[in-house]
Amino acid sequence: MENEKNFTTGSISVSTEHIFPVIKKWLYSEKEIFLRELVSNACDAVTKMKRLSSLGEISLPEDEKFAVTVRLDPEEQSLTISDNGIGMSRKEVEKYICSIALSGAMDFMEKYEQSTSDGSGIIGHFGLGFYSAFMVADKVRVFTQSMKGEEDSVCWVCDEQGSYTYEECTKRERGTDVVLYLSEEGKEYLEAGKLRAVLDKYCAFMPVEIYFEDGKDEKEGEEQAKEPINDISPLWLKRPSECTDEEYTAFYRKVFNDYKDPLFHIHINADYPLNFKGILYFPRLNSEYDNMEGQVKLFYNQVFVADNIKEVIPDYFLMLKGVLDCPELPLNVSRSYLQNSGYVSKIAAHIVKKTADKLQGLFNTERERYEKLWDDLKLFVEYGSLRDKKFYDRVKKVFLLPLTDGRHLTFEEYAKELQGKEEGKIFYAADPVTQAQYISLYTDRGIPVALFDKVLDSQFFSLAEAEEKVKFVRVDAEISDSLKEGEIDENEGLKSLFASVCPENTEISFASLKDGSLPALLNVSEEERRMKEMMRMYGMDVPMGEEKATLILNGSNALLKKLADCTDEDKKKDAAAQIYALALLSQRPLTAEEMKKFLAGSFKTIENGL
Ligand code: ADP
Repeated sequence: MENEKNFTTGSISVSTEHIFPVIKKWLYSEKEIFLRELVSNACDAVTKMKRLSSLGEISLPEDEKFAVTVRLDPEEQSLTISDNGIGMSRKEVEKYICSIALSGAMDFMEKYEQSTSDGSGIIGHFGLGFYSAFMVADKVRVFTQSMKGEEDSVCWVCDEQGSYTYEECTKRERGTDVVLYLSEEGKEYLEAGKLRAVLDKYCAFMPVEIYFEDGKDEKEGEEQAKEPINDISPLWLKRPSECTDEEYTAFYRKVFNDYKDPLFHIHINADYPLNFKGILYFPRLNSEYDNMEGQVKLFYNQVFVADNIKEVIPDYFLMLKGVLDCPELPLNVSRSYLQNSGYVSKIAAHIVKKTADKLQGLFNTERERYEKLWDDLKLFVEYGSLRDKKFYDRVKKVFLLPLTDGRHLTFEEYAKELQGKEEGKIFYAADPVTQAQYISLYTDRGIPVALFDKVLDSQFFSLAEAEEKVKFVRVDAEISDSLKEGEIDENEGLKSLFASVCPENTEISFASLKDGSLPALLNVSEEERRMKEMMRMYGMDVPMGEEKATLILNGSNALLKKLADCTDEDKKKDAAAQIYALALLSQRPLTAEEMKKFLAGSFKTIENGL
């Protein structure tokens, strides 16, 4: 062979002899990233070519089509990543592949080893680069022809021990083919479906058209369908003003395979001072028990890096779905670095601000839609507020109190509706059925009652009470002044009668209600009830019915007056017991004992009446 004397063999430096076995064994489960590394190198080579052409440094035919092709050869058990980018000269292969790529890989391994010793791992495992090929291959061939075109093309072959050699090369077109001869560890990528799934995961939004050839159709002599597997200009890169609602929804469905449309989206297009772009979606949750876990995909210049990096997304946004492209994120560093990175915390803060802005925007311009979304948003807003005071401050003016009559009012609007009647109070119910009696006591007097039935609500109350100088009062917690008319003297006879039929922890008191239809009702103090609820939430055994309660006897009720005048002691006692049981029944679900007693009492009352 004429050129033989020019062929060189070499070994990738003595100090690196350990790196190949390490790469091969490295993070077994993550070996699929070799494809991301090689395909993104191919895209980079094309992007560089495009840039040179747009700078006028080289001239290309007008119809030049740039592409990256990933081709499977099941017979040869190889996988080829081809591009028509800038290519490399022999010198460049020495410099970039034998030297720079290798030292990059060495740096990476070093960092990786350091970071695994503290268990933190490397985010996205970015930066291993070209040599990640050896995670799945035992031999790699690089055919490349530099764009300069002056020199011969190059064929560089390297084995898994790190020994390389140059071979004769017949490649004449500009660009690079990287051929991986798959090792035992890499055989699984011979399966077209598996390979395609990895391509879809990492390369779906890379900036150069990528084609996949599974090597099957060719054998049958059929034309391979030429459709790129990726979207080279993903929606997040467009200006928000240029995107339609349909596009946002279609993008969401495609990326997250969620058939339910999201509630709304936020398109972040920050150039300065923070350089990152992304679209975040609020998914529709069917119920409290729906899987709340969202998915935020992190990209680095259109290259998929990882899902759900919690340092970038505040943890109370856990149900968000979306994409973030952060080209300034130093991705090949450890988690602990990210936790202390100013850039990362600014991204997180920006997301919080944008989310609050969106809620305000919806409130101001699309109130009706906002109210419809509120059922799905409320929990999230409460949780976010509890976790981050800044978020609360941004959303408190648009926090809605859902009323029992179906309306929604802000704190301010609610206060206005009370018209100074019960200043600083917000009346609420936890259950519109059990507490129907109490609710109508208020609503009949024009006092709106809010509906809060989630465990998180009472934690949110504490926050809002401290911040807004309001007091949340459950409808069964007190008889507010607006429900009473005048004062009433205690009736000692009735007091001792009821005391004899009520449990010991029940106090008896008197009021004259504007509503005369009710003989008696029970109140349980707000503080005590909330404390017990909290204890139950933390798993403590606090049985129902232990709360101290007050039985309010309604002086304006006719039945009670009759009871006071009755002389048959037995009948009186039975009636009082039933009145108490009915008051209890309209305050909370009965315990088994209470239910038995109530039924027996009811039968007796019927019998007495016959
Ligand atoms: P990185 O891409 O982070 O620079 P790599 O190890 O992946 O690190 O690659 C090292 C260098 O090798 C690249 O910077 C590039 O100059 C060169 N290179 C790799 N793949 C190609 C390719 N397909 N075409 C042209 N140059 C390439």
